[in-house]
Amino acid sequence: MKLRLENFTKRFGALTVIEEMDLTVESGEMMALLGPSGCGKSTTLFAVCGIHKMSGGKLYFGDSDVTTLPAQERSVGVVFQNYALYPHMTVEQNIGFPLKVQRMSKSNIRAEVERLADLVQIGELLDRRPAQLSGGQQQRVALARAMIRKPDVLLLDEPLANLDAKLRLEMRSEIRRIQRETGITAILVTHDQVEAMSMCDRIALMRDGKIVQLDTPEQMYNNPRSQFVAGFLGNPP
Ligand code: ADP
Ligand code: MG
Repeated sequence: MKLRLENFTKRFGALTVIEEMDLTVESGEMMALLGPSGCGKSTTLFAVCGIHKMSGGKLYFGDSDVTTLPAQERSVGVVFQNYALYPHMTVEQNIGFPLKVQRMSKSNIRAEVERLADLVQIGELLDRRPAQLSGGQQQRVALARAMIRKPDVLLLDEPLANLDAKLRLEMRSEIRRIQRETGITAILVTHDQVEAMSMCDRIALMRDGKIVQLDTPEQMYNNPRSQFVAGFLGNPP
């Protein structure tokens, strides 16, 4: 589903962190929010999932204005860098938890968990607990849990940051595969330009709470509109 931020402003007290940002993510698109630490990427994601109230502006999912809709009523799945799996639950219970909260029947939950475990390829791990999994496997569980309610939008905040180099490479292509297979609209927050370029259809490059360039990876790399963009992508003029 298409997602649109219009005139989005976010303040923390006297500090303006995001100023009148416009951003459209097309249906089925994977958009990177790329930029240095502190530029406002996570703040933008928190506004989209509803954890933070917006100080100004509008948010639309498709044609629906969801600006003031509570987080739990928004059709979003979220994955953070520190997975936040429930340590005392099995993989199966972790993935199925959002449906248990909705009081779905056990047999229906089981079927849905199997569907997602298939998608993220952890079918043989359902009885384990998070501590018995590698970082990459834990991130697959977090993805499955984020997607089990069939959200319209998937939000990923530095999902690869805690992985070692080899797993990071593997999970880059796995997340992209899962996004493509499901056709879900996704936003990937990252400070890693290679990650953004290799995983996303388009990149919104941010600096100090503003989008300074929004383009496909190729366009941005070949035609950086400022020294900052060129420098950040590692392609200085
Ligand atoms: P990024 O994810 O791009 O690293 P953030 O969105 O986390 O950046 O933060 C952007 C800015 O907003 C930073 O200057 C940060 O200190 C500030 N900020 C984030 N959350 C809060 C908060 N709850 N209260 C005050 N300032 C915050
Ligand atoms: Mg952040």
